[in-house]
Amino acid sequence: MSAALPGCAVSRRALLATLGAGLWPAVQAVEPWYQQRFLFGSPCTLLAPRHAPPGAEPAARLWQRLRQLDADWNAWKPGRLGDVNAALRAGRPAALPADLFGVLQQARRLELATEGLFNAGLGALVGAWGFHADRLRDGPAPAAALLQRWRAAPPGLAHAELRAGHLVGRHPALQLDLGAYAKGWAVDEALSALQRQGVHDALLDLGGNLAAMGQGDDGPWRVGIRDPFGDGLFARLRTRGREAVVTSGTYERRRRAGHAEVGHVIDPRDARPAAGLVSVTVVHASAGRADAAATALLVAGVDRWPAVAARLGLDQVLVIDDDGRAWAHARLAPRLDGLGAERRRELQIV
Ligand code: AMP
Ligand code: MG
Repeated sequence: MSAALPGCAVSRRALLATLGAGLWPAVQAVEPWYQQRFLFGSPCTLLAPRHAPPGAEPAARLWQRLRQLDADWNAWKPGRLGDVNAALRAGRPAALPADLFGVLQQARRLELATEGLFNAGLGALVGAWGFHADRLRDGPAPAAALLQRWRAAPPGLAHAELRAGHLVGRHPALQLDLGAYAKGWAVDEALSALQRQGVHDALLDLGGNLAAMGQGDDGPWRVGIRDPFGDGLFARLRTRGREAVVTSGTYERRRRAGHAEVGHVIDPRDARPAAGLVSVTVVHASAGRADAAATALLVAGVDRWPAVAARLGLDQVLVIDDDGRAWAHARLAPRLDGLGAERRRELQIV
C-alpha cells in the first residue's frame, strides 16, 4: 500500500521508518491521511483520519508557520535567534519578537524548575562540543581549560534579563539554543492553531516530539516508542485526548569527540555530554513542557530523574539506561503495549 507525498510515492514501511527520531505512529489499521516535510533537521509528519483530513488551508498554514520557526530559531544558522546571539556576543541589548520573548520566558521558568539541568543558555558549549551543524563531524573534544571555565561559572537564562521585548545578557558566554524545547513548543502551537480552525483529530510529529488530539480512523492514535538499541519498537501507546509523547535520546545525534563517542545532550553540571540514560519518554498534556523535561531527565540520570520529574509535575515517564534497564511511572506502565512478557517483568515501576 502506498500514500502519495507531493512529488513522490512512499510506501507505508518507508513512511513509518522515517517518522521521527525517537518515535513514530505505530501502524493504524486504516492508513491515515498524512503530509510530510523536512524541517528542524528531521522528517516532520502531520497525520489525520483519512475520513476527515484537515482542509488544504489549515495544513498549508501549519507548514508555513513551522518553516518560519525553523528558520527563525535555529541556533547555528542566520535568523532571529542568530541575531540575538550576535547581539549577546557584542554585548548589546537584543530586540526580541513577541513569540521569542514568550518562549524564552517559559524556558527560564523550566530552567529554574529543573535546577538548571535544562538550560537554553548554553549554546556556546553545545557548539564547542560540535553539535551546531546539520551534518556532524568527528573532531577533538573541547579544551580542558574551556570546560573548566564552564564548570566554574556556567551561563544560563538566569543571566538573561528579559524586559519589554528586549534581552540583555549578564554573562559573557551566554548564547541561546532552543534545540531542546522549540519543537515541542511548536507542536503545541500548531495543534492549537488547528483546533481554532475546526480541526480536532490530528497527530503532529516533529522529529520525535509528538502530540496527538482526538482519534484516527480506527480509534485512538497509536504511537511507537523506539527501541534505543535496535530498529524496532520498545513499546506502543494509545494516546488519550490531546496528549504529547516526547522522546529525548542519546542514540541519534552522535559524534566522536577526541577518544569518545558522545551524544548531543550536554550536562551543564560538568560541561560534558550526558551519559547513563539513553532514552527518556515523557507523556504530558504539553509537548513543550515534555520536550524540555525529557532533555532535563536525560541529564538528571538514573538516580535523580524521579525527583526532577516530581518537581515538574510529571507522572508518566519511561526511561531506559545504557544497560537496557527500564523504569516507568506506575501511571504509565499499564498503558505500554507490545512490551513482551520478559520486558514487562523487568520493567521497574517508580
Ligand atoms: P532534545 O533532543 O530535545 O533532547 O534536545 C537536544 C538539543 O538541545 C541539543 O542538540 C542542543 O542543541 C540542546 N541542548 C543540549 N543540552 C541541553 C541542555 N542540558 N539543556 C537545554 N538544551 C540542551
Ligand atoms: Mg527536549
